[in-house]
Amino acid sequence: MTATESEQTSILNPSLWDGKIYTTGWTAGSAEPIEVKEPATGSVLATVGMASAADAFAAATRAAKAQKEWAATKPEDRAAILRRAGDFFVTHAAELGEWVQRETGAIGAKAALETHVAANECFDAAGLPHHPAGDVLTSNADHWSFARRTPAGVVAVISPFNFPLILSIRSVAPALALGNTVILKPDPRTPVSGGVMIMRAFEEAGLPAGVLQLLNGGAETGAALTEAPEVRIISFTGSTAAGRKVGEAAGRNLKRAHLELGGNNALIVLPGADLAKAASAGAFGSFLHQGQICMTAGRHLVHESLTNGYVSALREKAEHLPVGDPMSGQVALGPIIDDRQRDNIHRIVEEAKAAGATVEAGGTYDNLFYSPTVLTGLDKENPAWAEEIFGPVAPVMGFSTLEEAAEIVNSSEYGLSVSILGDVGEAMKLADMVHSGKVHINEQTVMDESNAPFGGVGASGTGSRFGGYTANIEAFTETQWLTVRPDIAPYPF
Ligand code: NAD
Repeated sequence: MTATESEQTSILNPSLWDGKIYTTGWTAGSAEPIEVKEPATGSVLATVGMASAADAFAAATRAAKAQKEWAATKPEDRAAILRRAGDFFVTHAAELGEWVQRETGAIGAKAALETHVAANECFDAAGLPHHPAGDVLTSNADHWSFARRTPAGVVAVISPFNFPLILSIRSVAPALALGNTVILKPDPRTPVSGGVMIMRAFEEAGLPAGVLQLLNGGAETGAALTEAPEVRIISFTGSTAAGRKVGEAAGRNLKRAHLELGGNNALIVLPGADLAKAASAGAFGSFLHQGQICMTAGRHLVHESLTNGYVSALREKAEHLPVGDPMSGQVALGPIIDDRQRDNIHRIVEEAKAAGATVEAGGTYDNLFYSPTVLTGLDKENPAWAEEIFGPVAPVMGFSTLEEAAEIVNSSEYGLSVSILGDVGEAMKLADMVHSGKVHINEQTVMDESNAPFGGVGASGTGSRFGGYTANIEAFTETQWLTVRPDIAPYPF
């Protein structure tokens, strides 16, 4: 088969979108196109168009015009489009998964998770158009009274590089299902997995033109969406620093912002826990996708009776997990997304050492491949304990009592995910004491299911939630109080 023939049989078919963004069809953006690089090899995978701030304002106006008709589309027709988009991710999982692997530097299992969850997000969202749209209220007045859910209007989705497909589709699918139009702005390092794939899925599913637009772009394009008057909701997933700026702009412009931000998640090993299983959970929690996950276990708190054994088991794993090009199929860890992220990881490890930490394993890199790293000898102020590293680094500290563990967990400004390994009764006591959007007992910190309400507290976010009917309806609709009388009411004036 020639290259052109294989391109044409490809569902992503780059000749459709090469150098383009999507407004009412694939078209050139006003900013300079950029190359998408494969972090493992440095090869150029594709070129995508880039949207300017002016493109973002124009997209918002277009989205507002398209929204009324989309909201008036029959629920069964909206549901069918969502189901077909879900089928797209199932049918083309192999081709899409390979893009995810190469573009994000992911091992096969992580890529398969992204396409699997993307399908489920669409299938779950397909239930939303027929979900009850509010409540019938009782009233002391002589009228019928309803609280009904109406679409919010235009939703902007801004997503990061690490799990670009899931972190985009988890907002795009329910927002569309509930009658909103959507503008998606993925991270410019992963615009295919975070954008093109989703756009192609809905294009193939028959979504009317203009209902979903894809604006590849950087911070300026995202910032323009926070200013555009027609955008009513911003669903942002990314760093706490950028989230603060988005939240400020949203506040100034009186928009709703759902902010899903960073984390510094604790994995706690209770006395009596099975050491081998705990170290396996800890290694997975810290090293999956090179630690570039908001839920990565960034602090391992191990009961003092088990600390030595836990550190040796974790060290053993870190020293033997293979690191390399995920396309070789033989690795557990792939590359870091780019040198800026890698340099930040290494800066924190070096600063941790300077502040007294011991490097039990790793602490080195080759190009973008960072070795799984285990650190001990830390105090709460050590940068490797206090900061979100976003790399494959497992800092370990001991504790003696549940109260002390809770105090250490809660001393972080973040509050996204906590894992507690060991006796369930003790774990439940600790779960009651920690401030966290998610707590997982006898599982590690990285957990996401399309029907579970996902989100953090404190510096991890504004407490908004994605996932499941209740959270998604809350996130992507407005509530209208509607009262009705058979005749005009009498008044004393
Ligand atoms: P980032 O904040 O730099 O970028 C995320 C997205 O925001 C990108 O699309 C970027 O272009 C855009 N952006 C940046 N500045 C902006 C601005 N001022 N206005 C509008 N948009 C802007 O994030 P990153 O460092 O690339 O991603 C990693 C971070 O994301 C980590 O902190 C991680 O914990 C967090 N994250 C959180 C979750 C969650 O669900 N809580 C999930 C994944 C990642």
